[in-house]
Amino acid sequence: MLIPRSHPRATSLHIREKLVSGYKSGLVVEEGLLAHGRGEMFDYLIGEKTSKYALKAIKAASETLILAKSPVISVNGNFAALCPKEIVQLAKVVDAKIEVNLFYGTEKRKRNIANVLKKNGAKEILGLDPKHSRTIPKLDSARRIVDESGIFSADVVLVPLEDGDRTIALKKFGKKIITFDLNPLSRTAQTADITIVDNVIRGMKILINYSKKNIKKKNLSKTRFDNKKNLLESINLVQKNLWRMSHA
Ligand code: ATP
Ligand code: MG
Repeated sequence: MLIPRSHPRATSLHIREKLVSGYKSGLVVEEGLLAHGRGEMFDYLIGEKTSKYALKAIKAASETLILAKSPVISVNGNFAALCPKEIVQLAKVVDAKIEVNLFYGTEKRKRNIANVLKKNGAKEILGLDPKHSRTIPKLDSARRIVDESGIFSADVVLVPLEDGDRTIALKKFGKKIITFDLNPLSRTAQTADITIVDNVIRGMKILINYSKKNIKKKNLSKTRFDNKKNLLESINLVQKNLWRMSHA
């Protein structure tokens, strides 16, 4: 029988509070709260900790970001509400640009997100000036609009908590995609080149630390990484946890 939990763990409550306060301060939209709920469910099923498969993906992501010519970190409301400091730190460590890119985008929300990133030390934020906007083909949503010196000309894009349509369009547009997605079955998780099945709150810190160590290496090279195989391991982990919980 499934054992119902009386209340979510302290960590997930803490993460939820960050999202709610991001909602109240105009970073996150209602749809972002729903997306967070989906993430919480999968976080529960992976055991609310970083798995060894997530670590493998983080290692591949770190090498790919460092070796990229023009990496970009794409930021939406949820990502900005959950880890603004880490976004800025990662951009510095791997020398990536930061671009604000929203599904439900208003100029005001873009500015709110940019302000939070600036407060956390970001110097340059792309995606704010319509004069520099270009469009990704084969995409209907507002997210087809990208910055010409950011995502438009990037070789590698980190797009956490991303919608499947956009990930698919970015892939078709020739970008190498790295994502954080707690749902190993989502279209984004299945389409990306490197999927980190972990909560961004935990995973970003590890990615930064890994990258700090990697950057010091003289001859950094890419370790072989099979995303489909790694995703299957995460799906197996969810199945094992479900079995364990239902037989406890
Ligand atoms: P897709 O469009 O890729 O098929 P979806 O429509 O279910 O997926 P979206 O709202 O488009 O989901 O994207 C949000 C994704 O981010 C979801 O898969 C959700 O599980 C995941 N997610 C939510 N919160 C977090 C978090 N804190 N860390 C990592 N992933 C998260
Ligand atoms: Mg979606």
